[in-house]
Amino acid sequence: MKIKILNNVETDSAEVDKYPDHCPFCHKSILPILITAIYHNPQSHRTTLQTVFQCPSKDCSKVFISYYIRSDLHRNYYYLYETMFGNFKPPLFNETIKTISEDYCKIYTESYASEQLGLKQVSGVGYRKSLEFLIKDYLIKIKGIDENTIKNKYLGKCINEDINNEKIKNVAKRAAWLGNDETHYFRKWEDKDITNLKDLIRLTVNWIEDETLTEKYKTDMPEQ
Ligand SMILES: [Zn+2]
Repeated sequence: MKIKILNNVETDSAEVDKYPDHCPFCHKSILPILITAIYHNPQSHRTTLQTVFQCPSKDCSKVFISYYIRSDLHRNYYYLYETMFGNFKPPLFNETIKTISEDYCKIYTESYASEQLGLKQVSGVGYRKSLEFLIKDYLIKIKGIDENTIKNKYLGKCINEDINNEKIKNVAKRAAWLGNDETHYFRKWEDKDITNLKDLIRLTVNWIEDETLTEKYKTDMPEQ
């Protein structure tokens, strides 16, 4: 794709590999409108291209900057490497999980925000904390286990001793293993990362929601 450059130095246009495909503000999948482009550090070896785009969505239409870096082989060819941060994309929660653990939703949202800022070390610790609130609130509110017992118990022990549903236990246990890797000095699961931790937390939430909703319908509609 050819892009016309505003402060042309050697040529008045450059070739880029692609346009950004997501708006950093509304987070929709888009084909952005090109507004203008400007060279940065045009005299240096590592010239970058700062490109201004507009989101085509009528509800959004915000302007944002994407950064391109010059190819080593072709002086006039640029690769997209970064788009500016717009705003946080909030995670979505079902009503069931909001009712079970408001704290889980709050902590998960903060962790998700920090991850979007690139603070992966901190967000991993946050996800681990959100898991603890999720499991403990589930055991207290849904399973009716005494609050003081659960509060003072290690998360791993709560999962092993107090969760009866094997589907929840299987995924929650593994989420806790990876969660501990985020907080400890030594990493046990070297080939797993924050994406796997989030997958396991999502599965834990799904099984908890399934169980809670099934029980609700069984109570609401008893067999005749
Ligand atoms: Zn947008």
